[in-house]
Amino acid sequence: MATSPYDVAVVGAGPAGLAAAAAALAGGARVALIDAGRQPGGQYWRHRPGDLGAVADLHHDLGAFRALVAGVAGAVRYFGQHVWNVSGSAADGFAVLTAETEVAARSLVLAPGAYDRQVPFRSWDLPGVYTAGGAQALLKGNEVLVGRRVVVGGTGPFLLPVAAGLAARGAHVAGVYEANAPAGWARHTAAVLPVAAKLTEGAGYAAALARHRVPFHSRRAVVAAHGEQAVEAVTVAKLDREWRIVPGSERIVECDAVAVGWGFTPQLELPLALGVATRVDADGSLVVEVDERQRTSVPGVYVAGEACGVGGAPLAVAEGEIAGTAAVAAPVPARLRRRRRALRRFAAAMHAVHPVRDGWQSWLGDDTLVCRCEEVTAGEVRAAVDDLGATDARTAKLLSRAGMGWCQGRVCGYATACLTASASGSATVSALDLQGVSERPIAVPISLGRLAGDAGHTGQQ
Ligand SMILES: Cc1cc2nc3c(=O)[nH]c(=O)nc-3n(C[C@H](O)[C@H](O)[C@H](O)COP(=O)(O)OP(=O)(O)OC[C@H]3O[C@@H](n4cnc5c(N)ncnc54)[C@H](O)[C@@H]3O)c2cc1C
Repeated sequence: MATSPYDVAVVGAGPAGLAAAAAALAGGARVALIDAGRQPGGQYWRHRPGDLGAVADLHHDLGAFRALVAGVAGAVRYFGQHVWNVSGSAADGFAVLTAETEVAARSLVLAPGAYDRQVPFRSWDLPGVYTAGGAQALLKGNEVLVGRRVVVGGTGPFLLPVAAGLAARGAHVAGVYEANAPAGWARHTAAVLPVAAKLTEGAGYAAALARHRVPFHSRRAVVAAHGEQAVEAVTVAKLDREWRIVPGSERIVECDAVAVGWGFTPQLELPLALGVATRVDADGSLVVEVDERQRTSVPGVYVAGEACGVGGAPLAVAEGEIAGTAAVAAPVPARLRRRRRALRRFAAAMHAVHPVRDGWQSWLGDDTLVCRCEEVTAGEVRAAVDDLGATDARTAKLLSRAGMGWCQGRVCGYATACLTASASGSATVSALDLQGVSERPIAVPISLGRLAGDAGHTGQQ
């Protein structure tokens, strides 16, 4: 096992991690850059190794990506390595543990990003139901179409590049079903105008959808999937302001794949392993609390990008640059602070226009699966509250087994927390609830031998 003393270890080579590593290197630090992927880029600049050109038309800001990759040339790369645990302190140094190696560093920048937030719906366990990000990842990373006739649904601007990308590669996109009303952006011009590139990007997607004759429906959602062996159709329905189905508005749309996304869930296993303070963000996600220099509550640990609030790649880059600069104790330029502020305002507007309303819970029958790994239904999660006395998501998980399977609650944790809060009469989901379904001391699967070998570092038994 190699142990190398670095000044800064950066986990995540997406927009935030690349920017952090480049900034720390520019400040003269010895930097380790670790990512589960085999090449840099994260979710935003995902591509097959050595094959960015083939998917260049599906990407934005490639000039920025290339500059960042050049900027991290001096980092020691640990690519294709999943970090399963981080431990340590500023006083004793930090250890970043992967299945293959251990990286030692004086300070840490964690930039692990996010993944699709999902809410369950009837028969969402049928083959052919994808997350919106999953459909896009297959397209950008493998040039694979999830289907020939695809329905895209959920909420948020991310649905647009997904639909445009699928259409550009020859899928027939039967419709985009946005549960909110994008007209709501009109109330946020002050947040949008300073980041004009977002407007241009949005207009580009709208033009692409028009060119491919993809119908866009607002205030409508995919509320059920149908099929024997795989998806053959979905039910879409009009929603009221609270996202309850408007009676009589249901329509069947035939398709062989459906891609749904309800925003993103920050990936917090690693920051939580270090005990950093968290809070609930405007979009209802648990995020890491950071200060103006991207410092967490744990000295020596910085977090940047989606893990401290979902806000898009340009914000992730700005935060990464700030974190990398702060990690080498250099002053943070005022222009960077201004850019982060403007992009955060845009993110706040995005969350205000594209909230996830509780009404989705009324689409579920008691027999609708919530946890697909352990096959736990909505009725069983509610019974954990109503019959067994659970009052928080963690107890509901223990009593119902929702979130105890392969994905360890990554997919169903948010829904389980929301269903528990509603059943127990809480107005909102608390940070404690979300933390209860987000903590995974072993962030990724590892062998028992490796776990035994590394147990001393993590203090676990
Ligand atoms: C599937 C998906 C597709 C997206 N596509 C778009 C898009 O087209 N347009 C858009 O504007 N926004 C998109 N987003 C939003 C997007 O994530 C961001 O805005 C941007 O990529 C955030 O940058 P980041 O650096 O914070 O995180 P990411 O880009 O997610 O990068 C995080 C990196 O950390 C690595 N990582 C995480 N955990 C570990 C671990 N335990 N060990 C090792 N490495 C780890 C990951 O492999 C990844 O490379 C997408 C998000 C997702 C989830």
